[in-house]
Amino acid sequence: MNDQTRRILIAGAGLGGLCAALCLRRLGFEVEVLERAPELAEVGAGIQVAANGSRVLADLELLDDVRRLGFEPEAAEIRDGVSGFTCYRSPLRGAHERRYGRPYVQIHRADLHGILLGACMRAGVGVTTDAPVEGYERLEDGVALRLASGREIEGDVLIGADGIHSAVRAAMLGREQPRFTGQVAWRGTVPAERLRPGVVPETAGIWVGPGRHFVHYYLRGGRLVNFVAVQERAAWREESWTTAGDVGELRAAFAGWHDAVGAILEQVESTFLWGLFGRDRLPRWTDGPVALLGDACHPMLPFMAQGACMAFEDAAVLARCLAGGGDAAGALKRYERLRIDRATRVQRQAEANARLFHVRNRAAQVLRLGAIWAGTHLLPPLAAARFDWLYGHDAAGDAL
Ligand SMILES: Cc1cc2nc3c(=O)[nH]c(=O)nc-3n(C[C@H](O)[C@H](O)[C@H](O)COP(=O)(O)OP(=O)(O)OC[C@H]3O[C@@H](n4cnc5c(N)ncnc54)[C@H](O)[C@@H]3O)c2cc1C
Repeated sequence: MNDQTRRILIAGAGLGGLCAALCLRRLGFEVEVLERAPELAEVGAGIQVAANGSRVLADLELLDDVRRLGFEPEAAEIRDGVSGFTCYRSPLRGAHERRYGRPYVQIHRADLHGILLGACMRAGVGVTTDAPVEGYERLEDGVALRLASGREIEGDVLIGADGIHSAVRAAMLGREQPRFTGQVAWRGTVPAERLRPGVVPETAGIWVGPGRHFVHYYLRGGRLVNFVAVQERAAWREESWTTAGDVGELRAAFAGWHDAVGAILEQVESTFLWGLFGRDRLPRWTDGPVALLGDACHPMLPFMAQGACMAFEDAAVLARCLAGGGDAAGALKRYERLRIDRATRVQRQAEANARLFHVRNRAAQVLRLGAIWAGTHLLPPLAAARFDWLYGHDAAGDAL
C-alpha cells in the first residue's frame, strides 16, 4: 500500500460507493463512507450484472450470494413488440460464463445493495448515514470534506460516489446541464405467481416498437418479474428514480403489444416514472486527492445495463491504483486515464441502443429488425464476439 495514503473518505453508499469501500478495505485502507440518506434502504427494481461486473463481485467473494439471490436468464432477445418476431437471440445461461468466465445475473437492487453493505460491515468499513456531503477543500496533505451540517472530516483521499446529482462533481467542475433525451421510462416489478405459467419467457427480453420499447427479466430465483418501459415524449420530467408513474398511462402506451408484455402490465399495481438525460464526457474525473466514481462521472442511459457494472470496474481499478504506491494525486490520475475512454465508449453504446430500439415508423422498424436478424444469422461468430471488449474485461485482474 502507498505509505502516505491510508484514510479514504467516500461520499455515497450506493452500489459504486460500497463496492469501492470493499475493494479498498481489502487492500488495507481505512475507509469511511458518508451517506446522505437517513437510512440505508435501496429503492427500485432490477439490475443486470454481466461478466465484467460479476468478475469484480467474484473477486470480493460475493458472487455466490449474488447467484443465490439472483436469476440467470436463458438468453437475451430482441423481439418485435406486436408480432413477437425474434430478430436477435444470444444465449446467456451457461453460455455467457463459458465465454467470459463469469455469469450474467439479474438481481434486485435491494438484494445487491444488502450483500455489499453486509460485506462492508464485516470488513470494518465505517458507514455514517444522514450525512449529506456539500463540498470539499484541498489541504496541503489531503482533503477536508464538508457536510451540510457544517462539520468537516479530513482524509487522505475523497471519492465522490454520490450518483447522478453528485455534490462532489459540482464542487470539482461546477453545475452541469444534462440534456433531456425525449424519453421517459417506467419501471417496476410484478410477482411471477400472478402470471399465467409460460407466458413470460425466462429471457432478458427487449420488445421494440416505433417510439417505445419494453424490457423484462426475472429476479429472486424467478419469483419476481422486473420491467422497464420506455416511451418517447416531448414533455420534460424531473430526473429522479422515485417519482410515481400512472399505471393507466403505462398500459395505454403499450396497448395491443404481445401477450408477454400485456400479461405483465395487467398485473402492475404501482410504477415509477423518470426522464432520461444525456450527458457529455467530463473534462476530468479528478482534482488532486479527489476522484469521482460511477454515475457521478459517467451517468449513462440504461440501454446497455452497464451503469453499476462500470461503477464496479471503477472501484476495482481505483483501489488497485491507490495500492500501487506513489502519491495519491498521481494514483488517481492514473485511475482516470485507465477508465475514462472505456466508460465513455459504454455511454455512447447505450445512446446507440436507444436509436436502435426506437425507430419512428413501422416500415423503418421492419427494415431495422430484418437487418439485425440477418447480421446475427449470417455472421454468428462475429455477432457473438461483438461485445467481447465489454464483457471480457477484467478490472480486478488485468495488468494496469
Ligand atoms: C431503471 C434503471 C435500471 C438500471 N439497470 C442497470 C442494469 O441492469 N445494470 C447495471 O449495471 N446498471 C443499471 N443501472 C444503473 C445503475 O443503477 C447505476 O449506474 C448505479 O447505481 C450507479 O452507482 P453509484 O454508486 O454511482 O450511484 P447510486 O447507486 O445512485 O448511489 C449514489 C449514492 O450517493 C448518495 N448521495 C447522493 N448525494 C449525496 C451527497 N451529497 N452526500 C452523500 N451521499 C449522497 C445517494 O443517496 C446514493 O446512496 C440502472 C439504472 C436505472 C435507473
